Amino acid sequence: MANCVFKPNCRGAVTDALNTKKSEEIFGAAKDLMPGGVSSPVRAFKSVIGDPIVFDRVKGPYAWDVDGNRYIDYVGSWGPAICGHAHPEVIAALQETLEKGTSFGAPCLLENQLAEMVIDAVPSVEMVRFVNSGTEACMAVLRLMRAFTGRDKVIKFEGCYHGHADMFLVKAGSGVATLGLPDSPGVPRSTTANTLTAPYNDLEAVKALFAENPDAISGVILEPVVGNAGFITPEPGFLEGLREVTQENGALLVFDEVMTGFRISYGGAQERFGVTPDLTTMGKVIGGGLPVGAYGGRKDIMSMVSPSGPMYQAGTLSGNPLAMTAGIKTLELLKQDGTYERLEVITKKLLDGIISSAKEAGIPITGHSISAMFGFYLCEGPVRNFEEAKQANSDLFGKLHRAMLKRGVYLAPSAFEAGFTSLAHTEDDISSTLQAFQESFNEIV
Ligand SMILES: *Cc1c(COP(=O)(O)O)cnc(C)c1O
Repeated sequence: MANCVFKPNCRGAVTDALNTKKSEEIFGAAKDLMPGGVSSPVRAFKSVIGDPIVFDRVKGPYAWDVDGNRYIDYVGSWGPAICGHAHPEVIAALQETLEKGTSFGAPCLLENQLAEMVIDAVPSVEMVRFVNSGTEACMAVLRLMRAFTGRDKVIKFEGCYHGHADMFLVKAGSGVATLGLPDSPGVPRSTTANTLTAPYNDLEAVKALFAENPDAISGVILEPVVGNAGFITPEPGFLEGLREVTQENGALLVFDEVMTGFRISYGGAQERFGVTPDLTTMGKVIGGGLPVGAYGGRKDIMSMVSPSGPMYQAGTLSGNPLAMTAGIKTLELLKQDGTYERLEVITKKLLDGIISSAKEAGIPITGHSISAMFGFYLCEGPVRNFEEAKQANSDLFGKLHRAMLKRGVYLAPSAFEAGFTSLAHTEDDISSTLQAFQESFNEIV
């Protein structure tokens, strides 16, 4: 039976190891109700084994499924849960705000408070606009790049994800890559004609694009540390080089810190790497588990945004008190002394352990961790861009994912996603996770 465990259609053996009966029932029904049974494609287990696990509740570092299984969670709702799920202080603050109503559609003091916190924290941000998701933030920032420079083209990198706006659905990383859609139907060719792409970490390619398109490129947008093609770190000089080349060409540099903001450090990757972009997008952590996105940057650029300037962008639920409260409380918790030091230490311990047990089992592996983010590829490495990331053994990762699930550890269901730790993960959680990795690597090799 041992081999049978990993065959997707061999449900019997899998169920022996992990009872997911209710998950299967609920997901089975969901497939008739919603495309693919999910509200976002990355949640479907398309590139790993078995059906998605249906969650019932989350707390601290844990998630419980509808069958009563408990998992140590390294997805953290795809980033927001950096203080741990359902942090008691966040919940208490939300309950208090809830009594006053969920949405005003009018200015509220809480917006000022979160705006001040973001401006204080993030080096590039002098003014900020709140929206409801990372996608919205990136879509708006792109319009702003064009409005400010009067140029239509934008450079993005292969494997970077900036939400699902038309212009960005070119070489867009994990979600799209996992499903094998190089582009999406419904995106007009005329739209993506203005999207130029370069390999990540390839400064010369960016310089060439600027040379080929004089005075036509509004700017460069990137994940300063890539979390949507696995986990890829910038080579020394890459971010600095982008800062220079954009300045030389009268173009803007935009860091998409939807994933890295308040995670790589309190001030994001720009603080950690000491490179200040013109504009920044944020999301995930900034909403503390509620739907929030934001874009911000230099005051002269942000002043172009409506109603202070002519670039239109709006949102019925933007800046609502509930979402602002979760963001404020989360940032307050993160701002405490020692937070990021602690995250760095446990995450490094986790990644070091994963790498050494894979190697002991004779499985090729390469990986990185920074602060509360980590990633590994099941291949020799190095991985400096999306092309190299694709060498990772996805089939083996699929087996690893299932083997870990059976042992109560929930990893992102794709070989091309970053992992997230939180302040709630204890030394014990890390140790039992590493035990599970050791057993799993030995089982799948
Ligand atoms: C998640 C993510 C987005 C999109 O944010 P949503 O809130 O899912 O719309 C954009 N950019 C990056 C870097 C992300 O990780």
